[in-house]
Amino acid sequence: MEKDNATSEFLSLVDVENYDDIYSKDISGGRYFGQPVSCIIEGEKRLRQKAERPIAYFSMEYGLATSFYNKFSAARPVSANNRNQEQEVFSNYRLADYFFGVKIDRLMDLPIYSGGLGVLAGDTIKTMADYKLPAVGIGMLWNTGYFRQKFWFKYGQMPERIHWDVSSYPGLIPLKNRVKISLKSEEIHLRLWKYYVYSYNQDYALPLILLDSNIEPNNENNRHLTDQLYRSDNGWIKAIQRIILGMGGAAALKELGYTIDKFHLNEGHAVFAFVEKARGLAKNEIQELKKHFAYTCHTPVEAGHDKFNSGDLSNILKKDDFEIVREFGREDGDLINLTLLAMNVSSAINAVARKHRDVMHLQFPAYKERIQYVTNGVHTHTWISDRFKALYEKYPAAFKEIKSNPFVLENAQNLKDDKNFRQDLWQAHQDNKGEFCSFLDKWGLGRDIFTVCWARRVAAYKRPSLILQDVKKLLEMAKKYGPIQIIFAGKAHPQDNLGFTYINEMLDKIDTLTGVYEHLKIIMLENYDIALAKMLISSVDVWLNNPLPPFEASGTSGMKAILNGVVQVSTLDGWVVEAEDKNIGKIFGYRAPEGKPANEYDLRLADDSRELYLALGEMIKLYYKTNNKGKVDIHSQWIDLMINCISAGAHFNTYRMLDEYKRLIWNI
Ligand SMILES: *Cc1c(COP(=O)(O)O)cnc(C)c1O
Repeated sequence: MEKDNATSEFLSLVDVENYDDIYSKDISGGRYFGQPVSCIIEGEKRLRQKAERPIAYFSMEYGLATSFYNKFSAARPVSANNRNQEQEVFSNYRLADYFFGVKIDRLMDLPIYSGGLGVLAGDTIKTMADYKLPAVGIGMLWNTGYFRQKFWFKYGQMPERIHWDVSSYPGLIPLKNRVKISLKSEEIHLRLWKYYVYSYNQDYALPLILLDSNIEPNNENNRHLTDQLYRSDNGWIKAIQRIILGMGGAAALKELGYTIDKFHLNEGHAVFAFVEKARGLAKNEIQELKKHFAYTCHTPVEAGHDKFNSGDLSNILKKDDFEIVREFGREDGDLINLTLLAMNVSSAINAVARKHRDVMHLQFPAYKERIQYVTNGVHTHTWISDRFKALYEKYPAAFKEIKSNPFVLENAQNLKDDKNFRQDLWQAHQDNKGEFCSFLDKWGLGRDIFTVCWARRVAAYKRPSLILQDVKKLLEMAKKYGPIQIIFAGKAHPQDNLGFTYINEMLDKIDTLTGVYEHLKIIMLENYDIALAKMLISSVDVWLNNPLPPFEASGTSGMKAILNGVVQVSTLDGWVVEAEDKNIGKIFGYRAPEGKPANEYDLRLADDSRELYLALGEMIKLYYKTNNKGKVDIHSQWIDLMINCISAGAHFNTYRMLDEYKRLIWNI
């Protein structure tokens, strides 16, 4: 086939496997799956120039919801396995659950993430593209994803394997390039894939490299190493997955000719990248190498910090590699701690919110001087709903530059006395809420009914069932103040028994509440993902965030909600500490004491649920004062809260976040 210039140039930079047989229709005529290929060429060239000082961003997971952002078209049919279809609902209206499901027909999120960490990584590289940074993401091609969640009547969740079709996922391409990891007793071969992440206005793109062990000549076992994200039932696989991300990732960057200046490690997961670069170096060279590494810690929770037995790692790694790991990562006793390793080999260390920094200072006093913080953010182009985009566009005096500069959201304050704005804001919210109600039309939700949502990963410290501690009390409140709708969604890690128990507890409690549906509607949605998150964060009245302080390092879902004027009810933890004075809703519950280590096993469910009901009661009363069966008081304080939320969005976004990374962490 005759190739146009742009395609030839692309192919000279990116060695696509099976181009002629499979990908030539999608990559031709100046287009890459429907988007301009010229952006890719520019990004690829800059990554090969040392003077550009490129950044490599490592993460175990990436959350990219390609059904509504960074959409690619495909000339070939996309496998049905790559689409989401009907899902079940568990509610206290069991009859509806029995007869109906919710129809979801869309391309599934790229199935290589589990939760907030991945969504943050996705939002970050999208923003890097918006900022036209010379950057590349490195992650894993999870051949069976994380898992698909099925409810098992009221007994809990059943994880199902995802069989997605890698070769027909639009925008994802295999490369001819291979890299090899040499371990003590074997070699592991990796194939590289690329997925391109475009800027919001499609004037730049950066590559995400995904590593895949599912190739010849790996033996059958090793071909499954990159099957499932966060598989933790097998320590050997757990270690090798991290070695693949770090060593394989660093080797891939070299193989592709990228001249990386900054290696950015998210969690200890990726720290073996340092080992790959340090191999064979002299002491002073290793010292020098550290200047090129930065590390971000994302959680204070114990289980998030990987530790391995020295003996196990020395059986996997070659002697020289293990020596590097041991020198920098040994904890007392016989353990290798990847967090210590990452801190010891990095020149910059950061927590992901101010409060999290304080907690890290207590957890790692020896590193106190070096631990800074950069509070997380969310990507505004991804998370502002279409109706709110239109709302902001309608008020150009306040929000004119919102596309390139979300800091203008602050100007929402100037519109507090503008009756039209208040009216339009309420209407945009009601329209979003109405759309959500029709999504669940068989469950008869009402858009003039107070609606609260808890949706995120089901983990103990996040206390998913806090609002269900006393369902009698909830029902009483609903009868006294007005009806309540509660929406839940979230997956528990398949090997987290406690998480499973929580889901079981919630389903069980919901099942006891049949017969009171006119007062209290409780809906639990299966298979929480980014596309579902986008609908929920933009359509409920209250976003509930009730982690046990101080264990939520940052949290981001509330940040997505405020961009759409959704009011917060939250404990004082993570990013919310920095928004405490902004009056974005109601803060309640236990406060982590300063200067003292915390106990993640004392969940304080009884005390904090009592406080939650008090906070919720006040919010419900205010809500029904504002919206009395569709009769709306536009001057209500509720709408002030919504406006405060929007203006707080000026700070809690990835543009502000990346500005800080550039200044504090990467020195660019
Ligand atoms: C934003 C997001 C999260 C993170 O939520 P937190 O409240 O920060 O835990 C998890 N899962 C999905 C799908 C998300 O979009």
